[in-house]
Amino acid sequence: MPSCVVKWCRTRSGCHSKIDGITFHAFPKNPVRREPWVQAVRLERQEPDWMPSKSSKICSIHFRDHDFYLSKKGCTMIHKNATLVCTVSILEGGI
Ligand SMILES: [Zn+2]
Repeated sequence: MPSCVVKWCRTRSGCHSKIDGITFHAFPKNPVRREPWVQAVRLERQEPDWMPSKSSKICSIHFRDHDFYLSKKGCTMIHKNATLVCTVSILEGGI
């Protein structure tokens, strides 16, 4: 069962049906694309040495709406050049 790699994020796959539109996304395989994601999660977790595992997933609240698109099968996908929003700053501002 996937859960979001962002520590404070309470999104879990077990209850995502209650939250409309939340999807989980694996980290890009391409290191150039993956690096900004890893950096953003390190900031979120405040763990400078954090590395994603093969099963690491991040949920869709950490992206901007325009970074998503629907695949032909109707799955929510992330655009290749999408970057994570640093949600720590949003959190500090108060959700
Ligand atoms: Zn999350």
